[in-house]
Amino acid sequence: MMKTKGYAALAAGADLVPFEFERRNLGANDVGFEIQFSGICHSDIHQAREEWGTALFPMVPGHEIVGVVTAIGDKVSKFAVGDRIGVGVFIDSCRKCENCSRGLQQYCLEGMTGTYNGYERNSDQIAFGGYSNFFVIDQDFAVKVPSNLDLAAVAPLLCAGITLYSPLRHWGAQPGKKIAVMGLGGLGHMGVKFAAAMGAEVTVLSHSKAKQEDAKRMGASNFVDTKNLDWHKGFQKGFDLILNTVSADIDLEPYLSTLRTDGTLVVIGLPGKPYSVSAGTLLNGRRSIAGSMIGGIPELQEMLDFCGTHNIVSDVEVIKADYINQAYERTVASDVRYRFVIDAKSF
Ligand code: NAP
Ligand code: ZN
Ligand code: ZN
Repeated sequence: MMKTKGYAALAAGADLVPFEFERRNLGANDVGFEIQFSGICHSDIHQAREEWGTALFPMVPGHEIVGVVTAIGDKVSKFAVGDRIGVGVFIDSCRKCENCSRGLQQYCLEGMTGTYNGYERNSDQIAFGGYSNFFVIDQDFAVKVPSNLDLAAVAPLLCAGITLYSPLRHWGAQPGKKIAVMGLGGLGHMGVKFAAAMGAEVTVLSHSKAKQEDAKRMGASNFVDTKNLDWHKGFQKGFDLILNTVSADIDLEPYLSTLRTDGTLVVIGLPGKPYSVSAGTLLNGRRSIAGSMIGGIPELQEMLDFCGTHNIVSDVEVIKADYINQAYERTVASDVRYRFVIDAKSF
């Protein structure tokens, strides 16, 4: 067993506090690594505060994890000691269902095994996430990090990055497509960078006017302040694709009205409460509402390689562990530019 230091929520909504626990011994297919950086995803906050229903405590959140390999099991061929490694939102799956066979482990028919807020697969051991200084993972559920990218700025790619890359690929972001990104937070800012790199015309729909210059720098052609309640009137049937990363409960109707014929609004944000939409808005223009959840292991590696080639990383604010609770407050207030990342040396 490996003694590990981290931060945990001991109960729903409680402040996170220092927490020590043990990682399992290395199995033949396992890789052990020293965590260097761990991103703070809004999903960590939703779960630590039980905004998605009953959660499991103590909870060590964190599913945007990067580090350097320190030990490998006997059968590990994918990694060597010293390699840069990343782990995202799940640590295991059934590995044999239709979806796992297609590399879509996030949609495993038995349910993916989350990086935290659950048990390790076929075990009564609570899975502890990335807000910690050491990790053990089966080699098949970890990815390689390109050597040219700054490691702190890579961490958010493991969730925020893949979660926007996957729907952009699925719905065909390319030159000639008009794409809107709702919410310029951790996920949204990655969506802007990816959609621009894929050649699409990007519009940011934001309720924080102060983010306008940043949006343009990231590759957006247009920025719309959604606090102006009539904003949508100028964009009727304007977008092919809208990616909704908003973490709060909002009315989708004005957004749907800006979809072109056959356009799709992809729900990515998970505020917790159901949305209400009128049938008429969907019928008028054969519009669709869809959903998308992170991405599978092959696509996670593809996304990181794409980032390596195009030199894409997240805009990060690196913090120490004792700032996590303030970082949560600032994230909820949409006051992060654009992802908090914890320096694991501070655990
Ligand atoms: P985040 O950094 O907090 O960004 C959310 C953004 O939503 C904010 O920056 C803000 O953008 C906008 N927003 C917040 N409150 C708003 C309000 N009251 N009205 C309008 N806009 C508001 O969060 P994140 O980490 O990017 O995560 C976003 C959501 O995606 C969360 O619900 C998270 O759980 C979910 N998520 C889903 C997946 C998936 O696989 N589908 C994966 C990861 C996370 P502006 O300031 O620009 O308006
Ligand atoms: Zn996440
Ligand atoms: Zn499966």
